[in-house]
Amino acid sequence: MTSWEIRQKYLHFFESRGHAVTPSSSLIPAGDPTLLFTNAGMVPFKDIFLGLESPRTSRAVSIQKCIRAGGKHNDLDRVGFTRRHHTFFEMMGNFSFGDYFKSEAIAYAWEFLTQELAIHPDRLWITIFRDDDEAMALWSALPGVDPSRIVRLGEKDNFWQMGDTGPCGPCSEILVDQGPAFSCGSPDCMVGCDCDRYLEIWNLVFMQFNRSKDGVLTPLPRPSIDTGMGLERISAIMAGATSNYETDLFLPLINSISEKAKVPYENGNGPLDYAFRVIADHLRSGVFLLHEGVIPSNEGRGYVLRRILRRAIQFSLELELPSPVLSNLARQTVIMMHQPYPELEQSLSRIEAVLSHEEDRFTRTLSEGLPVLRGFIDEVISRNEKVLPGEMLFKLHDTHGFPIDVCEDVARHQGIHLDFKGFEEKMEEQRERGRQSWVGKKEDFPVPSSRIATPVSFLGYERDQVMGEVLLL
Ligand code: ATP
Ligand code: MG
Ligand code: MG
Ligand code: MG
Repeated sequence: MTSWEIRQKYLHFFESRGHAVTPSSSLIPAGDPTLLFTNAGMVPFKDIFLGLESPRTSRAVSIQKCIRAGGKHNDLDRVGFTRRHHTFFEMMGNFSFGDYFKSEAIAYAWEFLTQELAIHPDRLWITIFRDDDEAMALWSALPGVDPSRIVRLGEKDNFWQMGDTGPCGPCSEILVDQGPAFSCGSPDCMVGCDCDRYLEIWNLVFMQFNRSKDGVLTPLPRPSIDTGMGLERISAIMAGATSNYETDLFLPLINSISEKAKVPYENGNGPLDYAFRVIADHLRSGVFLLHEGVIPSNEGRGYVLRRILRRAIQFSLELELPSPVLSNLARQTVIMMHQPYPELEQSLSRIEAVLSHEEDRFTRTLSEGLPVLRGFIDEVISRNEKVLPGEMLFKLHDTHGFPIDVCEDVARHQGIHLDFKGFEEKMEEQRERGRQSWVGKKEDFPVPSSRIATPVSFLGYERDQVMGEVLLL
């Protein structure tokens, strides 16, 4: 079954059960400064859940474009290294705004998976929030559900929230057991393990509360339903594929990358296949974000986009892809996503131009800084150490204008961590020197402006918050 067929089946299933088919809204949440990107299917309906807006319909179904890079749900660093996480993905969801609740949501999901998609119940597991006895009873009563396959989990897995504030509630999830070959091998590997064996495919959220800034939960006006199933994951299951990347949502692009690369793609099992995955994933995000008008920059959404594009370029070096990498692959990305998103084509030439400019700029920075960084890493390894000292980081940043997030990506790959504290101390010393010379000679600017790390209010990455700054290229 192709991903297109799955889209159609999902929309029809819920449409024929009274849900209004609703087109995906933008990746940029309308009028919501608390959220970097749309990170789930419920985001466009947030005000309806909160009772601030009255719904035009009490049941809706959608396939929502999502980005999980930055913010509360941030999968950027996992991409390429699991078989199931992306920065850009599509979430299929059915919603009830004060209409049906747990019982129908559970029954619909089970019917869709086991009847419509004909997935055998023996492959499925269920999780529920630890004290949700009602969900336990509802699941156990369904035909084909084995109660010993219903697992109670805690807040981390089974209490869903969009962000630090906003609508939230206990949830129940459906997982597919992909078999021991997918296990991390730990004797504790079971439902809830973070490896690929028990693949979480669908989350049914029983939307009951609003979390305020001070963490207090207030009941929502009407208990509602919000569900989310990753299209890429269910497509992998239906294609009998070993990963999301081996489906029609990625393979045409991976094949194009592979034609240009010096290294072969080995169906997901090769030693450098993670680089193909990262590049393909990041191109999808890049193309969609650029189409929606986000431009690479040093703050907010533009910074996340810049980071995504730079990461793709960085990984392309491992495959020795001829440059420019990104602009050469944009067309294939647009073709691959054409059927559901024909509108991308109109932006293609603009997307190619921005990608080419961004890549050009970043390649110059990399070619200067990367050999120095590699030299530093070799030095650390030869001393049998595991931490790249703050002084080296400072030199890379200050003398070579090299971004610290790229240092982190490259170093982590070789098992080396960065001494952020030492780096911050060096930065502070530099600021202090700047302040002193400023006092002495008021007419001079203390340090060359291109070398200043400018404080920005970026809420995406924890580390950036700790450091309080990101680095200008
Ligand atoms: P995981 O535990 O695998 O990271 P999650 O619990 O963070 O997933 P939810 O917030 O429950 O995910 O989102 C609902 C569904 O969206 C998931 O069950 C999954 O099918 C899909 N999904 C979530 N994150 C991603 C991602 N980064 N890439 C692809 N699909 C995703
Ligand atoms: Mg997650
Ligand atoms: Mg989860
Ligand atoms: Mg989940």
